[in-house]
Order: sequence, then structure tokens, then C-alpha cells
Amino acid sequence: MKEIASSLMALLDASPVNFLATQYVEDQLEANGFVRLDAAAPLPELKPGSQYFITKNHTSVYAFRMGSKVPAEAGFKLICAHSDSPGFRIKPHATIKCEGGVVKLNTEVYGGAILYTWFDRPLSVAGRVILRGNDPLHPVTRRICVKRPLLIIPHLAIHFNRQVNDGNPLSKQKDMLPVLGIINEKLEAGNLLLDTLAEELKVKREDILDFDLSLYDTQPATLVGLNEEFISCGRLDDLAMVHAGLYAMLHSKPTTMTQVLAVFDNEETGSGTKQGAASPVLRNLLERVAGSSEALYRAVEQSFMISADMAHAVHPNYPEKHDPTNHPVMGGGPVIKINANQKYVTDAESAAVFAEVCRKAGVPCQYFVNHSDSAGGSTLGNILTSQLPMRGVDMGNPMWGMHSVRETACIADQEYACKAFAEFFNL
Ligand code: ZN
Repeated sequence: MKEIASSLMALLDASPVNFLATQYVEDQLEANGFVRLDAAAPLPELKPGSQYFITKNHTSVYAFRMGSKVPAEAGFKLICAHSDSPGFRIKPHATIKCEGGVVKLNTEVYGGAILYTWFDRPLSVAGRVILRGNDPLHPVTRRICVKRPLLIIPHLAIHFNRQVNDGNPLSKQKDMLPVLGIINEKLEAGNLLLDTLAEELKVKREDILDFDLSLYDTQPATLVGLNEEFISCGRLDDLAMVHAGLYAMLHSKPTTMTQVLAVFDNEETGSGTKQGAASPVLRNLLERVAGSSEALYRAVEQSFMISADMAHAVHPNYPEKHDPTNHPVMGGGPVIKINANQKYVTDAESAAVFAEVCRKAGVPCQYFVNHSDSAGGSTLGNILTSQLPMRGVDMGNPMWGMHSVRETACIADQEYACKAFAEFFNL
């Protein structure tokens, strides 16, 4: 249990944003004998048991281990998760100078963040910076994580809004802008952020062409509870499933089927990017691995996908929000997600397959369906089936506070998911 908790915390602390989460997965894969492939080059000869990965946009990564049989004869086993999480992106020309030399940054909300959880926390920035290279078509990308807290979003004092605890609508543009510091009133604020980035990366400010930067909570992942049964950290949705998928990939042996771990980007905004699940990025890779479209079509018919995205545990303060008879609980094991209107790919057959995998792994599992009066969320599974029409299950671990800047999950469930995923890959 200790080992699972500490490896999850290591991944979370190294992954303040999607760019760094992908970097972490890449590093772990390479350290464990997976070979990086250049998607623009011909694939090498794929021998049984050989292990490779490709990346896309520095925010998504696709790893596979060849089975002892070719995919056309045995199919693929896939675990899919996502690297992105809701938060704030820094806009271009972001610096705004206010009274007293206070400088704040203009931001934009990414995905469905719970805004008020971001107030009054030491924040910083991470993501990627694009630098001038020799070829204008291929500038240089550098990932960046500013470790020291640089920013804070100060809340308005209660004395100016006595109704603050009675429901307080927030404007993303007015209420949520983070403060960067105080400068001499005579100075221009324009280059402050670029100067900081240049200093961090030890490059010239003029060579910074652009950036994709997000805010993150600088407080590390923490165990919480009488028996340290919970973990508190941002981005558990969906880095906890990235962790369990990676764990399974690194703790399983080659089987007849080819094992695949896919970590997509942009799930939180609908997956509609070249590195998202709605693109053909994974399909194209699997077709190349299979050897032809005919081989892929045969493989798809024999494949099974676990679409792993975090789920909702029944909340002790709001049990009425849940379905009357299906209450996933913390520590109750992975949650199979079911929806009559097919927002989840799960059907009776695929739910049975996953429940059987859990049983074989000695892991409990539970079921989630929406309260019939609530719409619920969506995830990767049914988007992926538009590219890869294969059997699959939507599942995730139970958690509280999804999309808060700090979410809560249960360490026992993380161990269960790791075991269940490893069992699946080892089948
Ligand atoms: Zn998610």
C-alpha cells in the first residue's frame, strides 16, 4: 500500500500540468525499457514482447508491448486515460498593471474548474515555452515548471460582500485573475512574465515566441485521514488512472494480445484536438502496429478497451445526489460506469468482463449510474469507439470534489485499480 501511495504522489507532484504528466510517463517508460519511436519514421520490426511508445504534442503518449501473436490474430488490450485537468490558462499579453504597482495576469478557464477552490492559494505556472529555432516551421519546445509560488488569487473580504456565504456567483474575467507581484509604479509590466520565463529557462527573452502556460497549486499531494486513507491533490482526475495504467504496463508480462496504454489530452474540453481521443492518433498507430487496415479490422474485433476516468463516490453530505440503489463508496474498489443513453461505452457484456477481471485480481468493484434527474458527465470511451469500434468498459476510481483544485480519493482504491489493471494486461 505504501509503495502505491508514494508512487502515485510522485507522479502527481511531478505533473502539475498535462505537459509534465506526459513527460513523467515518457521518463518512466524509457527507464523501464520502452523505446521511443518517431511517428514520422517507418516503424521498426515489431518482435513479440518488444516495447515502444510515441508521443503527440508533448501532451499525450501511447505505449505498447507486442503480444506473442500478431494483433490480427489476438487483438489489443487497451487502457486509456487522460493527462489534462481543469484550471486556468494564461492569455497572451497577460500582464495588467493596477493601483500601487500591483501586477495581475489575464487568464482563461480551461475545462469545468470549480472556481472558488482556487482562491487564496500559493500558485505557480507550468506548461511549455516555444523558442525560436533554425526552422520557422519547427520552433523549439521546452517544458517548464516554475517551482516557487509566483501567484495568488486573493478573495474579496467578507466586509465588502456580506452575502458571500449565501451563494456567490463568480465572473471568470473579473473575480479570478491572479496577482503576480508589485513593481515600481514607473516600470512597464509588459515583459514581466516573459522575463521570468527567460530566467527560468536560461534563454534570451527575445527568443521566446509563445507559450502554453497554466496555473497550478504548489502545495504537494498529501495523505489525509485518521489512517491516512485519503489522498488530497489536484488532478487526481485523471492522473490517478494514468498512474494505475502505467503501473499495469510496468508490472505485466507479454501475453498473446498486444497491450496498449493511451494517455490522451484535452478530455476536459471534449477531446477534439489532434492529441485528443476524437482524433485518429491512436487508430493510426494501431493500424501501423497491426500492419494493414485489414489486420486492424480483424484486431479490433478481438480487442477490449478499459476507458479509465475517475468516478464519483457517494458524498457524505449529499447522498441524495446519487442514484437510490447504486452508491459507489470510498475504498469500495473501481467503479463501472453505466448510462442508458450510452454516454458510457459499458454494456452488460463489457461490465461482466471487467467485473470478472476484478474478481480474478481479488479486487472489489462497484457500479455508478446517474441519478435519473441529473445529466452526469462524459468521458473518453464513446469518443474512442467512433475511431475504434471495439468492446470496452468505462470505469474509474471513486473520488470526491472532482474538478476542485484539490480533489480527494482513497489509497485503497488506487491499489485495487493497479491490481485490476495489471490482471487485465496479464490475462
Ligand atoms: Zn476525467
